[in-house]
Amino acid sequence: MSEEKVTPSNFIRTIIDEHNANGRFGGKVQLRFPPEPNGYLHIGHAKSICLNFGLAADYNGACNLRFDDTNPVKEENEYVEAIKRDIRWLGFDWGEREFYASDYFETLYAYAVKLIKKGLAYVDDLSAEEIRAYRGTLKEPGKNSPYRDRSVEENLDLFERMRKGEFADGEKVLRAKIDMSAPNINMRDPVMYRILHAHHHRTGNTWCIYPMYDWAHGQSDSIEGITHSLCTLEFEDHRPLYDWFLDQLEIHKPQQIEFARLNLTYTLMSKRKLLKLVKEGIVNGWDDPRMPTIAGMRRRGVSPAALRNFSESVGVAKSNSVVDVAQFEFAIRDDLNKTAARAMAVLNPVKLIIENYPEGKTEWLEADNNPEDPSAGKRTIPFGRELFIEATDFMIDPPKKYFRLAPGKEVRLKHAYYVTCSRYETNEAGDVTVIYATYDPATRGGWSDDGRKVKGTLHWLDVRHARDAEVRLYDHLFTTPAPDEARDDEAFYAIINKDSLRVLKDVKVETVLAESAPGTRFQFLRHGYFCADSEDHSPEHPVFNRTVSLKDTWAKKKKK
Ligand code: ATP
Ligand code: MG
Repeated sequence: MSEEKVTPSNFIRTIIDEHNANGRFGGKVQLRFPPEPNGYLHIGHAKSICLNFGLAADYNGACNLRFDDTNPVKEENEYVEAIKRDIRWLGFDWGEREFYASDYFETLYAYAVKLIKKGLAYVDDLSAEEIRAYRGTLKEPGKNSPYRDRSVEENLDLFERMRKGEFADGEKVLRAKIDMSAPNINMRDPVMYRILHAHHHRTGNTWCIYPMYDWAHGQSDSIEGITHSLCTLEFEDHRPLYDWFLDQLEIHKPQQIEFARLNLTYTLMSKRKLLKLVKEGIVNGWDDPRMPTIAGMRRRGVSPAALRNFSESVGVAKSNSVVDVAQFEFAIRDDLNKTAARAMAVLNPVKLIIENYPEGKTEWLEADNNPEDPSAGKRTIPFGRELFIEATDFMIDPPKKYFRLAPGKEVRLKHAYYVTCSRYETNEAGDVTVIYATYDPATRGGWSDDGRKVKGTLHWLDVRHARDAEVRLYDHLFTTPAPDEARDDEAFYAIINKDSLRVLKDVKVETVLAESAPGTRFQFLRHGYFCADSEDHSPEHPVFNRTVSLKDTWAKKKKK
């Protein structure tokens, strides 16, 4: 991505460098990103995508996109399409290298036959529960199945009949014949195939036996000529099995390397639980801006660059840890600060009338679009006698050190003039309905050359030009920093933040905001970064999502 940046090394690079030096893979680097199409990609997947595609690019290698579609019950084409859209949006391209584990079903079947012939796999009639009971525990060895010593001929015959559909779901499985007393439970005759009379989103009804993850994964890696198979730490104990299958089959053997998965505070990354949020309508779909999915973050206004930069900033580790979500927000702000155009929006409007300003007059004042980026240019904004300001920027009886507007106080209106509050009106309930002020014509542009200081700067909009809009403010979906610790449904529902979405319907915005294309990102002065909603926004009904507020807690924490 970034040509001039030097990527810091990490333990995975060290391993690849060693292999390149000793010629294990002939200098080749072939990686893959292997999502299961059973849900939308989330920020943890984004980390894995950036890692795999990033390493492939750095080593002049390639990265395959492989759908790990071995469980027809949970997988759907909608997910395949969403995954492809999200990877492209993140900025990565797999070219022609789009593969599906289901494309290898025939080869995997042949490999299984090979293991049966070598006496290394057998058909078992035990039920799922019995298999679990026979497996033993970490302290106790497992027991051999009574079907373990079937002859090669019988196994070949039964396996073929499994494939032909002669047996019901769960009636038989194919297992590897390894060692029921192995200290590593993964090596206690793991199941390779189960019977599932289910429709597959690609192979239709061709198959009624489906490979288990451990059986499909390594062999798929091998078939694709993968050199380094990066996976998360939970698979460390599966590596002996990964290696065993490849060694027994005597086929190309990639190196599995485990790294720590990305965990974020206040963020769930279990696809099962994310699916639950969607299915039960706790959020409005996979792309709800509160979701940690790539689609949700995109809709919220996070840029691909922010995600990539964040992914790089967390690095790769060998032990699990939890990253503060504030670090992610820092990356979002850091990017949007450079790229998002500034504009004014009044979220909670109250009228401000400039008593000494001529009625009917409009002045067009100059405003820079982005002080961080002069090339973003300037725009003009209309100023007049009647303005909207934030109701929260006025207090009748302010405390000391209140720098916003109050009776008798002077503030700067951004890009416009200094104004001094002269009086205000309230309704019967005591709410302020109109504020009156006078302006100083000598302060045009918001500057005074007589040296007098005003501390407060307010944003504002001309009443005649302001456009109505809706704004959606988001908070964490969960009230606790470790939502994955909820053990059951009751605990899960209890930690859902009921106030994670607040909709403001009476918002006033600049014309540039109302007229912006869906998906455009802005900084609303003093309010944070916002994005025109990709689904609901139109000039007639402008809708903005707050991506992130301006407040930066993480950088402050870091300085301490
Ligand atoms: P499930 O929750 O269904 O087991 P998963 O999160 O492991 O799913 P996959 O679709 O199997 O999802 O993951 C695709 C790839 O993304 C895998 O290589 C996996 O290691 C990686 N990945 C998933 N979650 C994370 C995470 N939190 N951090 C880093 N990598 C991740
Ligand atoms: Mg998985």
